[in-house]
Amino acid sequence: MTLPRILLLSLGGTITMTRSGEGGIVPTLTAADLAASVPGLAAVAAVETLSPLRRPSAGLTLDDLIGVARTLNDRLAGGLDGAVVIQGTDTIEETAFVLDSLVAGDKPVVVTGAMRGPESAGADGPGNLLAAAIVAGSAAARGLGVLAVLNDEIHAARLVQKAHTALPSAFRSPLAGPIGLVIEGETRIFLRPGRGPVLTESLREEPAPVALLKMGIGDDGRLLAALPGLGFRGVVIEGMGAGHVPEALAETVSALVERIPVVLASRAETGPVFSRTYGYPGGEIDLLARGAFSAGILSGVKARLLLQILLRAGVDRAGYGSFFADP
Ligand code: ASP
Repeated sequence: MTLPRILLLSLGGTITMTRSGEGGIVPTLTAADLAASVPGLAAVAAVETLSPLRRPSAGLTLDDLIGVARTLNDRLAGGLDGAVVIQGTDTIEETAFVLDSLVAGDKPVVVTGAMRGPESAGADGPGNLLAAAIVAGSAAARGLGVLAVLNDEIHAARLVQKAHTALPSAFRSPLAGPIGLVIEGETRIFLRPGRGPVLTESLREEPAPVALLKMGIGDDGRLLAALPGLGFRGVVIEGMGAGHVPEALAETVSALVERIPVVLASRAETGPVFSRTYGYPGGEIDLLARGAFSAGILSGVKARLLLQILLRAGVDRAGYGSFFADP
């Protein structure tokens, strides 16, 4: 049997971290080091390795991910069957979503990491990497967009969230659950969600800063109003519940929409922003009528990245709707 050819591309994260002389763990291992440490990996895939970065995942940037997407588009077009991106778990949901928006084609791209370092008892990195490689090499995972695989669960990029700071079971897709599992070394897909649009336009190099603001009771809107003056090119508001802000902020939103795109998400753990239920000032009907865009089911962090990508791609505001809509 010919083994699938997959690329393991490492960006760092706990899965690569070993104890440093100064205390604490820091990223040291490469994709090749990790590949050599996973029992059974050679039996499931022929792997190639690349280690462009060795960083904690809080230090990754959108430009880093645009570079990763470029590498994946090139390498997957060149005959690989799939790819695994290895990185820190803190921002896996963001990386998976950005790659889902920028990597074309139907070959599986899987993001994975580990909650425990390789020197800990019960390290979850080797198991996660093996499961990710199985999914990346499988025909069953084709056409599903970018996936996150941890704890033998397969999550869609749009849905997945880190939901715990410590447990190996930290990843959840609270809206609809994982779309599949790795069972007995096999990729089992139980749900096939639609995939959002992939942007193939080249992105401008100039950054497009987008602020992410979470609403709390009594917010007086001064931060919101200050954003254009601070150089922000857009804002995502994590509103209360189904997409609401204090009444006093409704006019601030109107003034903001004149200057920069405003996207409305929810600070609730999950669930779509509403569009036609609440009619009071600051409710979703009012804010959308004032020109805010709905983030749909996207979390605030994902909506922020999507808006940055749309701004850098030069997509007209009139075209935003299809990117935020449910696929
Ligand atoms: N702080 C680490 C990171 O995101 C956490 C992890 O990898 O689990 O790089």
